Parts: sequence; structure tokens; C-alpha cells
Amino acid sequence: MAAKKASFAQRLIAWQRTHGRHDLPWQGADAYRVWLSEIMLQQTQVVTVIPYYQRFVTSFPTIAALAAATEEQVLAHWSGLGYYARGRNLHRAAQLIVEKHHGEFPQVFDDIIALPGIGRSTAAAICALAFHQHHAILDGNVKRVLARYCGIAGWTGDKKIAAQLWQQAEALLPERDVAIYIQAQMDMGATLCTRSKPKCCECPVQGSCVAFQTQCVSALPTLRLRKAIPEKHTTLLLLMHGNNILLEKRAPQGIWGGLWCLPQLDDGNGLVSDYLQHNALEVSERIELAEFTHTFTHYKLHITPVLLRVANQPLQINQADRVWLDAAEALQGAIPTPVRELLKRLPSHH
Ligand code: SF4
Repeated sequence: MAAKKASFAQRLIAWQRTHGRHDLPWQGADAYRVWLSEIMLQQTQVVTVIPYYQRFVTSFPTIAALAAATEEQVLAHWSGLGYYARGRNLHRAAQLIVEKHHGEFPQVFDDIIALPGIGRSTAAAICALAFHQHHAILDGNVKRVLARYCGIAGWTGDKKIAAQLWQQAEALLPERDVAIYIQAQMDMGATLCTRSKPKCCECPVQGSCVAFQTQCVSALPTLRLRKAIPEKHTTLLLLMHGNNILLEKRAPQGIWGGLWCLPQLDDGNGLVSDYLQHNALEVSERIELAEFTHTFTHYKLHITPVLLRVANQPLQINQADRVWLDAAEALQGAIPTPVRELLKRLPSHH
């Protein structure tokens, strides 16, 4: 095992130095930026993350600045990245860091993992990359690499399989150069040992990779037996008064929690006519728009947008959680991707 460990880590580190990524904007940055990048990179690719990351650190250059922002401002910067709980947790964690750690990012693993939105692998990555501490990581990419390299079959989300992978991750961790090794694992998962068509012929550990040697690379990691994902239907109302659109703020929980959204009528949740009557809205024109589908991790949402031009802007809907906004202004706000797509298609938006 010792020889295998040395060769795996040493080969990866040597490969990273010549073939890895060295110009990511958060490389070599402080713990705040490393943390932010780690959270943004969960479920999201590097190319998508970079502009979001740059806008975020420009607006919130320090943990104190992030803590002092409103949730609304934070979510507006997250708008389009998806998985908004990440943005809300980041904001809450910044406030906790200010309260409990005087605004300095904590350096102790147990203090880091106690912050909202930070799991074992993310805490370990921050410790290793920002503070050069000795911790193994196991994110989605590393799970895939290790399942193949060590020949571990079974769904990696399964507790037993995850425990085996953690064991291997710990066992393969080198004594020195942990930060480069962690970066090497991330780079390798993103560029060589990819989900489909891995570039095994360029891989520095091909000679000791169980999956490659036994020709079962395409069978690992074992895919989860997926049930068909459920489908839901909903109607989104684009209520327009002149160039203004009615937006409603969602309750903090749920998939679009805390975001500004269009009024939504789910199956069995009332009719358009009831909504209009209840809110004393007078429709002057109704325009049917093409239905479209938005796919979340756990379900598909078929959206029927209905554009209604209204003749009035009734006073009773001018509340803190409902606003009439010009489409261009609304696009600057914390709105979910399907709403963004719809607003971009409106004839009044140039
Ligand atoms: Fe991944 Fe192929 Fe390298 Fe094995 S040889 S670690 S499967 S890229």
C-alpha cells in the first residue's frame, strides 16, 4: 500500500505541476475566496463559475461586506447559478463568522464544518487549499476518480461505498504538498478522468488504475438505479401594466426561496380567473406563450406562461413582498432562471 500511495500522490502532483490548472482566479487566494469558489463549484462547472465569482468578490470583497449585505443583494449575485440554498447559507455563514470569529475565517476544521452549507469535503478542501493542513477531500470528481482507480463498485452516494471511498482518500493522502495534491485531484477529475470519455491514455496513474487494468472504466462509478423523475405542471403569470411586471417574493423555503418570481398557479391551486378577481386585476389582453420545460435535479417542471396585459395596478398588491418592476430592472434582481428567460423574451425588453 505504501508504494501505491507514494506513486499515486507523487504522480498526480507531478502531473498537476505541468498539466494542471494554474490560472483560476481563486488559486492562492485567502480562505474567504477559496470557500466561495468551493461553494460555487458544487454542481457547477468552472467556466460558468468564473464570472459569477468575479462579480461576487467585486461587490463583497470581504466577509464583513458579505455579512453586511442583504439576502436580496446576495441572491441577486447568485441569480442564474441555481441551488440558491448555497447563496443563503454563504450569507448566514458570513454573519456567523463576524459574530463568532471577529470576521476572520476560522482555521480549525471543527469550526469550519460547523458553518452552514459546509460539509466534510468542503471543510477539508478549505483547510488544505487555504491553510495547507493535512486533510483528504471527497467531492463528486474525487469519488469518480477513486471509484475507478481503486475499482470500487456500487453507487457512490451509498453510505457504505462512501465510507470505503473516504478510507481510500485518507490512505492515499500524501504527507507533503497536500494543497497541490488536492488541486491535482480536482483538475484530474475535471479534465482527465471525466464522467464520459476519460482520457486514460494521458493519465499519470493509468499503470496502477484498477478500472483501466481490468477494462471496466466505463462501468465505474456504478450508476444509481434511477426512478423516472417526476413531472410537474405549473402556470406562470406575466402580468404587465405598461412596461411593468408584477413580481412576488417567495417564502424563504423551497426551490426558489427568497427569490423574486412571477405569480405561480400549480395544479389544483386555483384558476387564472380566480387570481385576477381576488387581486382586482382587470385584463385588457391575454397572450398565450409557448410552453417550456425546466429540469431540476429531482423533477421536471413544465411551465405554461400566460401574458396578461392589465389595465390597472391595484393598490392592494403594492406590498413589501410584491412589486411592479420594469422588465430591465427585474433582470437585475434575484430571479430564477426560467423567469429570467421569460423576461428576456418580452417584446418590451431590448
Ligand atoms: Fe481515470 Fe483512466 Fe486514469 Fe483510471 S486510467 S484514473 S479511469 S483517467
